[in-house]
Amino acid sequence: MTSLAKFNLIPEVDSFLKSSPFAGFVGGKDFPSAKGTVIPTTDPGSGEKIGEIHDLSSAEIDGAVEIANQAFPQWSALSQKERGALLLRLADAVEAKKAIIGQIEALEAGKIESQAQGDVQNFVDTLRYFVKLGDGVSTRTKLDIPGHEAWTYKTPWGVCGFIFPWNFPFLLIGWGISPALVAGNTVVIKPAEDTSLSAIYLARLAKEVGIPDGVINVVTGRGATAGAALSSNPKIKRMSFTGSPEVGRLVAEACGKNLIPVKLELGGKGAAVVFDDVDVAGTAEKLVGAITFHTGQVCCDATRWFIHAKIFDSFVEHCKGLLAKVKIGHQLDPTSQMGPVVNPKQHARVLGYQEKGQATGAKCLFGGGPATVTGLHGNYVKPALLAGSPDNVAAREEIFGPVAYLVKFDTEAEAIALANDTDYGLANSVWTKDKDRANRVAEAMEAGNSWINAHNVFAHGVPYGGIKKSGLGGGVLSIETLNDYYRTTSVVRPN
Ligand code: NAD
Repeated sequence: MTSLAKFNLIPEVDSFLKSSPFAGFVGGKDFPSAKGTVIPTTDPGSGEKIGEIHDLSSAEIDGAVEIANQAFPQWSALSQKERGALLLRLADAVEAKKAIIGQIEALEAGKIESQAQGDVQNFVDTLRYFVKLGDGVSTRTKLDIPGHEAWTYKTPWGVCGFIFPWNFPFLLIGWGISPALVAGNTVVIKPAEDTSLSAIYLARLAKEVGIPDGVINVVTGRGATAGAALSSNPKIKRMSFTGSPEVGRLVAEACGKNLIPVKLELGGKGAAVVFDDVDVAGTAEKLVGAITFHTGQVCCDATRWFIHAKIFDSFVEHCKGLLAKVKIGHQLDPTSQMGPVVNPKQHARVLGYQEKGQATGAKCLFGGGPATVTGLHGNYVKPALLAGSPDNVAAREEIFGPVAYLVKFDTEAEAIALANDTDYGLANSVWTKDKDRANRVAEAMEAGNSWINAHNVFAHGVPYGGIKKSGLGGGVLSIETLNDYYRTTSVVRPN
């Protein structure tokens, strides 16, 4: 009997898992590896295998892109209304299956089940948001140019490639593919090796609701083969990559060789700047919530906490009290507040940074090290608070776990300088009751996103993207993102 038998598996999830090994899904049908090679997929909470995915070869990825290319003329020829109606049907179907997809997502990503369901709802909301935006898009814009009759004309690009990480598999698919599909492009999705199942479920569901074959395709496999083949395929007309800066560079290089536009959504080392006029207990609660949310595996997390010297000690005491109460457990256990990290490699990475940080002078204020959950051999870690020099390796590099690094400051200028002294530029937050100071600091911090008295805030319509080592190419979630998925032709007739 596996450990999973302890939890309440939805019968449809159980039968879905029994259909392993999972092939990709391309052109409206299963797309297996001809060689039959597979990669195991594991429940991070128990360490037990829950299925296998097919490990597609580079040539097979090229075949999938060709199928998506053949589907493009028909999909792009539909009117905005026709495409929108089909996509809304998909949004409705995903919403109806929220519990099932949420559980699949929770199981393979190690995400607390209620949070995984929230991610599925976010997918639905994103798709509906872009369909609505698409309704208002005018593909022809008249230009008022003396002596000329001129206009611009917008048309979709063709096949768009998407490579995703394992931390928010389903939500990020929604952020990525929704604008591309609304604009009339077809898509090939390469999910992470650890978390491919929810993407496969989505592609099958798209077929059921009548999205034409070849419009939404999922290819499975390893990054170095399947991912590399997708990003270097010359028939891909636009590429989007979400993941680490190291792999982002490789994807950008491959796209550069083909002169293909690429959007990169990469890692982060976000700051939270906390002034001495805050409600200390309330702010500590929100930042502890941020660092433990999805076990700290969140690109935009606040992992560097700059705390005004006057409140430093009391802030730390509040955080310790809150962190001591966080219940670590299996992601399907409804009493758990923090689940495992995604795989043993990530487990070793989080613990390794704690060790390296302390070996080079950081002080551990609270927690740290591995956590045990009775009866389970999952990848559990304890949340940790480190403190010390802002130059410590744990303060500089992305750990991607529930670890915050604390540094004291005295002046506003010092806090801004500390927040900006990083290679990353994704998201920061400022915490103060002083509105003017909040606005000043929010605008002075160098990143794609600044939040005031909150962290991890997302709203459809507010652009989200990174600068420096955190991203390139414009970000997601706004009208600009939809426009990215059209290419523009200008047409001019001299009078
Ligand atoms: P990763 O870069 O290791 O992998 C991401 C994806 O790239 C996976 O699908 C992988 O198979 C694929 N890949 C690996 N090698 C490849 C190659 N040579 N060519 C093409 N594709 C390849 O990242 P990860 O460990 O899965 O995710 C964690 C990282 O993602 C963190 O740095 C995190 O901050 C970042 N992230 C950023 C955002 C954002 O919106 N900015 C969102 C989520 C995660």
